[in-house]
Amino acid sequence: MDFGLSKEQRDIQKAAREFAEAEFDKDYMLDLELNHKFPHELLKKACDLGFLGIDFPEEYGGAGYGLMEKALVCEEFGRVGGGVGTTVSTSHFASKIVLRSGNEAQKKKYLPSVCSGESLPVAGCFTEPDRGSDLVTFPLSTTAVKDGADYVINGPKTFISFADVAGFGVVLCQTDPEAKPPYRGHSTIIVDKPSEQPGITITDFVKMGWKSCATTQMSFSEVRVPQENLVGEENRGFYHTINFLDEFRVEIGACSVGTAQGAFEKALAYAKTREAFGRKIGTFQAISHKLADMATKIESARLIVYKAGWQFDKEGKVDPKLSSMAKWYPARVAVEVADEAIEILGGHGYMLENEVERFYRDARVYELIEGTREIHKNTIARSLLGKLE
Ligand SMILES: Cc1cc2nc3c(=O)[nH]c(=O)nc-3n(C[C@H](O)[C@H](O)[C@H](O)COP(=O)(O)OP(=O)(O)OC[C@H]3O[C@@H](n4cnc5c(N)ncnc54)[C@H](O)[C@@H]3O)c2cc1C
Repeated sequence: MDFGLSKEQRDIQKAAREFAEAEFDKDYMLDLELNHKFPHELLKKACDLGFLGIDFPEEYGGAGYGLMEKALVCEEFGRVGGGVGTTVSTSHFASKIVLRSGNEAQKKKYLPSVCSGESLPVAGCFTEPDRGSDLVTFPLSTTAVKDGADYVINGPKTFISFADVAGFGVVLCQTDPEAKPPYRGHSTIIVDKPSEQPGITITDFVKMGWKSCATTQMSFSEVRVPQENLVGEENRGFYHTINFLDEFRVEIGACSVGTAQGAFEKALAYAKTREAFGRKIGTFQAISHKLADMATKIESARLIVYKAGWQFDKEGKVDPKLSSMAKWYPARVAVEVADEAIEILGGHGYMLENEVERFYRDARVYELIEGTREIHKNTIARSLLGKLE
């Protein structure tokens, strides 16, 4: 067993750290936060240096590394940028469905422009107003019906990240309404430039954090896309989505570790300099133990994420139990650590300019996206207990 990163991985980590420290400028991020802007310029620079395509094959314009190396990038971007780091490092989102389940023509058409940044961000449209955690019990409200050479898509999707500026989206649709169980009638279908498609309405939500990424409500009305936009097999879309999410959750776990680390470092620095009652606050055991707890939780979360990344690169898939652990636990740690960082900074921690309150608000969404904490604990528990009568 070797817990060390390879020389190449350390170089990638260092490059990502240097990029983040140079480019995730505090004033720029404040502007994104206050004006709810998407970081197009930052994303372009990150793509030019190969960070977004790092784990895409070289034949599609990527760097040919693995999920472990991508996790290192997510972590470093999250450490400096919090949710802005996550917006940048995960903006390829549903393009990974095309990478893992698409045909060669789709990969050639879409993936080089993902790696170059031209098609970024990419939306993944799964959740519906009546269906979030549970996509399986009832048929989806969003349907795709064949008509001539096209699919015609109708229905609602909600909480969809990036849809307003996406180069393309992958939409989970019900293609067989009679399928039993209903998820055996799901298909994943590419929709180019959703904001420019006649028949798609996109409206923005106002939300607690993660303001550099719009979260939208989408409505599809008679939207025609060619049948060649079907990704993978018809009526196997649920499985394509689950496979992709098992992998992608590790990236969210890595973003969470980075956000936690960033909040921790700000609290640590503050504890070393801030004085109260004639002493540095770090000399109070109550504060120093908080820091000890924070560091321990971050280290545990990081080890789970790295193990999941390592397993994916070795075996081509992540055990769903480990994927769930690598998602819910780091996300919880990010929230708890950022919360304690606010406490250590006292009143200053509550102020936008000190960033830890933004890290807290940004971190809270990591617990909701790609499956809630409760849903991941269900997955882990099912794997531990099997089917009980
Ligand atoms: C900012 C943001 C961005 C998002 N981006 C996207 C995106 O890009 N694409 C996309 O498709 N979706 C996206 N989502 C949606 C997200 O994945 C869902 O919100 C999430 O899956 C939960 O679904 P829900 O909100 O419908 O909650 P529900 O499923 O209604 O759950 C409500 C509560 O009940 C609990 N619950 C439900 N079932 C069970 C159970 N069996 N056991 C125990 N507890 C249970 C949940 O854990 C939760 O606490 C985003 C959400 C947010 C907030």
